[in-house]
Formats: sequence, C-alpha cells, structure tokens
Amino acid sequence: MREFLANLGLRTGQHIMVHSSYRSIRRQFPDVTIKSLIFLLEETVSEAGSIVMPAFTYCFKRSGGDYAIFDRQSSPSAVGAVSEVFRSLPGIVRTSSATHSFALWGTITHSITAENAPESPLGAGSVLEWFAGNPETHVLLLGTDFSSLSFSHYLESTARVPWYDISPWGYMQVEAVGVSTTGEQRLKEIPGCGKSFISFEEYLRGANKILPRHAGSLTGCLIPVEALLREGIPFFKENARSLLCREGACRACDSRREILRERGVDLSLQSPIFGSREGTRA
Ligand SMILES: [Zn+2]
Repeated sequence: MREFLANLGLRTGQHIMVHSSYRSIRRQFPDVTIKSLIFLLEETVSEAGSIVMPAFTYCFKRSGGDYAIFDRQSSPSAVGAVSEVFRSLPGIVRTSSATHSFALWGTITHSITAENAPESPLGAGSVLEWFAGNPETHVLLLGTDFSSLSFSHYLESTARVPWYDISPWGYMQVEAVGVSTTGEQRLKEIPGCGKSFISFEEYLRGANKILPRHAGSLTGCLIPVEALLREGIPFFKENARSLLCREGACRACDSRREILRERGVDLSLQSPIFGSREGTRA
C-alpha cells in the first residue's frame, strides 16, 4: 500500500481530499485496516500537509417532518467506512455543515475551523474553496470514480452550470435548510446527483489529463486540484448536458431538467462532447 501511494505521487506537504472504497482496498490489500490506511496517509503527507474526507450526513429539513438532526460529535458519516473512522479519531476537526460536513487533519485546520458551515455547502466559503485557492492541493481516489468526486460540485457552482442553484430533491420533500443541534440554516446551493460526473472523468482520461494507476484490482489516482479547475471550468460550462443523467433515468436530474424547462432553458440545445449518461450507477 505504501508503495502504491508513492507510485500515485503522494508526497510530504500535500493537502489531499480522499475518496476511497474500503471494500476495493481490502480486496487487494487484505492486511490494510482502515486505521492503518489513515496512519499511512498521515505519515506520508505529514502535518505540513493535510488530509480531508467528506463526512456528509445530508441532514436537510423535510416538509413531511421526518428528518435527522445533525450532531457534529455523534452523527455518523453517510459516505463510507473510511470517512466514518477518520472523523471519529482524536485530533480530527469536523466542520459544522448539517448536510455536508468535512473531517480535517493537518495544516488546513489552521485556516478552516469547526464552525465552518457555508450557505453553499460545497461552493463559496467551503472546504472545497480552500482546496481551489491553495497550492499543493490534490484529490486522491482509491477504488472510487468521479461519481464520488465532491470537487465536481464546486465546479458546478463556479462554472455556474444552468442548474447550480436548483435543488433536485424537491420530490423527496427536502427543503433548502440544514438542521443541526445548534439550529437551522437556510442553504443557497443544494448539491445534487453526481453519477454523471463520470463524463468529466472520461474526458480527462481520453485526453490523458489524468493517469490512473493499478495495483491488481485496485485503481488509484492522485489529481492536482489546479488541473481539475483548469480542465473542469470550461468542461462544465460547455458540456453541461453530459453532467446530468439521461432523461427518465434519475428523478433528481429530471427534477432539475423540469425546472430549467419552466425557466425556458432547453439543455438539448447544448452540444455535449458525450451523450448524457445512463443513470444506472449506484
Ligand atoms: Zn442523476
């Protein structure tokens, strides 16, 4: 595992946003526990760098009245086993967004505090904006693809894709309000479905802009955030259509399409590099 991380380009002083599938890691490296993986990442980047993982809980208010309330200390991460272990470790700072909190370790904790809870949870003022604005920031994918790349939501917001301020979760009675033990917060931008961010990954792979590496069945990739910004902002502006699931395949993406039609925006007039994705991924 240590060698694989070194081959991916992981170095001292880097700030990394980690998206990982422990199931995929364990299949290739059965001896690696979640804690040993985290310690290995910490040892490699050192406290001169940073490790960040999403610890999202999606604690939105729902008009039906049935919803969970975010507790920064105890609400489990809904985005994977590695993130849940990481956010529970001593010395980790967890941010306060009721819907999209992050767990932080290292240098970033000097700039982003536990109080961080922007009204655009993955846009302006968020942990992702810190990644966009600092050198030596990278995204580390271990056994995952771009459907879990939170930074894509920052690109949606920055590139102002046609639906960036449209909530796709109305059909689930979700309101634009985060609810935590400290109160309610009105939210400005609601991140939606990420399944079709794969279109962006296919574009980057096709153009040799990212170089995934393999250790047996495990695929990993370390991507500079600067490259995601440079390639992503024009891609998101020009290929918006390819970033929603195919019509009829996903209620969240269809909800956005419907509201856009009401606003007189027809996405089919946009010419994508890729066709809209099949909305079949989990
Ligand atoms: Zn979708």
